[in-house]
Amino acid sequence: MKLRHLILLIAACMALAPCMAQTTRCQTIAHRGEWRSEGSAQNSRTSLQRAMDLGIFGSEIDIWLTRDDHIMVNHDDKYQGVSLQDASFAQCKRLRLGNGERMPQLKHLLRILKRSKSPTRLIVEVKPHRDPMRSRRCAAMAVNEIRRRGLEDRVMYISFSIEACLTIHAMAPEADVAYLEGDRTPTSLNHMGINGIDYHFSKFQAHPEWVGEAHRLGMNVNTWTVDKPEDIRAMKALGVDYITTNEPARCEELIR
Ligand code: MG
Repeated sequence: MKLRHLILLIAACMALAPCMAQTTRCQTIAHRGEWRSEGSAQNSRTSLQRAMDLGIFGSEIDIWLTRDDHIMVNHDDKYQGVSLQDASFAQCKRLRLGNGERMPQLKHLLRILKRSKSPTRLIVEVKPHRDPMRSRRCAAMAVNEIRRRGLEDRVMYISFSIEACLTIHAMAPEADVAYLEGDRTPTSLNHMGINGIDYHFSKFQAHPEWVGEAHRLGMNVNTWTVDKPEDIRAMKALGVDYITTNEPARCEELIR
């Protein structure tokens, strides 16, 4: 009788296991940090700190390489009339964000990450520079800087630039790297050694089979930028691993 109960219990656990894995799998990534609260700004020190305070899985940033090889953190290339990829560091270091902070360099955010005991990872997006060689160089410098600080396990990389993705993979084969453009199948990326896809959610609405295809290949699936509750629920139901959102607190509530 006891053995029968044990067998029934094991069978029930095995039946529930896929559902449990599904519910614990989906995680929140704050798009450009948690920047919508008072006193914060996109890609700022504050937005990273506030994402970490939420205890969510990740906080995303965007990086550009200045012409004299400093890594600046900002979404757009052009900011207050300055093109980050064309400017010198001397021009960029004077730029201020909407909340009054100076525009950070990658190293400033890595310092915050290093000091913190938060589980939040930094998701580093290498922006596609006009010259693909600069995208490669930006990626390579970021990998070196992150490695030098011993933060390899607390960082993931994303990029629209396939050159940047391939550079990161070649330098750090163990790193999580996801391609953003949405124009390649998981299988084709897997053949190149890229171990993640991070596509706009409309791509997964058009190709829901890519989620399972990526998972069968052992790849991570991230989606951006998902802010509406119905879209967050739909992406969770589809089985993505990460949801990148401008509403991290709300997303976290919805997926838990
Ligand atoms: Mg980005």
